[in-house]
Amino acid sequence: EPDILGPDEHGIDPKLLSANAVRVTQALQEAGYKAFVVGGAVRDLLLGVKPKDFDIATDATPEEVKKLFRRAFIVGRRFQIVHVMFGQELLEVTTFRGNANTNNAPKDEHGRVLRDNNFGPQHEDAERRDFTINAMYYDPATQTVLDYHGGIADIRDKVLRIIGQPEARYREDPVRMLRVVRFAAKLQFTIEPATRAPVAVMAPLINNVPAARVFDEMLKLLLSGHALACLQELRASGLHHGLLPLLDVVLEQPIGMKFVTLALESTDARVKAGKGVSPGFLFASLLWHQVLEKWNAYRAAGEGPIPALHLAADDVLDNQTDNLALQRRIATDMRDIWAMQPRFERRNGKSPYKLLEHPRFRAGFDFLLLRCESGELDAELGNWWATFYGADANERERLINGAR
Ligand code: ATP
Ligand code: MG
Repeated sequence: EPDILGPDEHGIDPKLLSANAVRVTQALQEAGYKAFVVGGAVRDLLLGVKPKDFDIATDATPEEVKKLFRRAFIVGRRFQIVHVMFGQELLEVTTFRGNANTNNAPKDEHGRVLRDNNFGPQHEDAERRDFTINAMYYDPATQTVLDYHGGIADIRDKVLRIIGQPEARYREDPVRMLRVVRFAAKLQFTIEPATRAPVAVMAPLINNVPAARVFDEMLKLLLSGHALACLQELRASGLHHGLLPLLDVVLEQPIGMKFVTLALESTDARVKAGKGVSPGFLFASLLWHQVLEKWNAYRAAGEGPIPALHLAADDVLDNQTDNLALQRRIATDMRDIWAMQPRFERRNGKSPYKLLEHPRFRAGFDFLLLRCESGELDAELGNWWATFYGADANERERLINGAR
């Protein structure tokens, strides 16, 4: 049975709720169903943070949900959920899922649950969620919080605690180990000892998870606004192996270290300022050191600088597309950013003007600045381009004539 907390006890500010989330729960309740805001949104509300999106949990089936809303779409093959649209806002409505069959659900040879798509009672829906702080339900109508696993206390104590037996939960779904790292870094919570203990030993189970899922979770981690803290935590937990091959090596080398750190700091700053971050730029940064090494090796073997760079990029991307399921669009961005780099060193004739017209000039230029800042390149080159970029036509001519 859950603890039920009233507004005085949980202190949620109703103004942080999206009007559409209230609308959805109300419509479901008026039709006779249970309906709650659930998961990350409740956690954020309790922390006084405005949630970035709202998930709704209900005992209505997807078909029953769909009938109640004008713009509602059943999505998902593995487990059907309903997307309810209000203007730009998308709300995900999920039917309570049971854990009754977790024990006899189909699994891979390592114990990873392949399918568990049965509906169930609310307490089972709570039990199959990952952390105590992610397993609370909020009813906007009565302004009550239902807390099944002591989440309120863990929010108060800033503790991240997995629900149930940690080893079993990681075995069912190894991605939860990445989520431990992400939430601990993002919320600045401490990881409860029993939740942390098995991670170092069980880390290799991540290798059996489909690459696309690992990639999605890695992207969430890197774009959390706390990427630097997350990577440090990944290293501390022994989780970085095989996620970004050679990340360990990259982070241990003096220039690579500075470069990756700078890239992550600037990513975190952009996320915190509400600016967009391009995954291509981020991954281009994380893997640059590897590209540099291979680039140098191909040149030492007699290739010209440009072909050598392309060969290096191919090697690195081939390796990564296997391991991380880098989407083609992201890989293309990365290659563009890398391939632009030697062009910044040509500052005569028409070359700088042509480069300015490159559709990804801005990303290539930001990348160049990072290389300068890390000490890989002379700052003079970055400064020259910054001036050139902001200059008028006459000044640009003068800069080209005066370039080294
Ligand atoms: P964020 O604000 O970063 O999106 P979130 O808690 O909403 O955080 P989601 O990945 O959007 O995280 O997941 C929504 C909810 O679904 C979680 O709060 C949790 O209850 C449940 N959940 C997600 N992934 C898992 C998992 N691998 N195992 C168990 N429960 C999960
Ligand atoms: Mg979410």
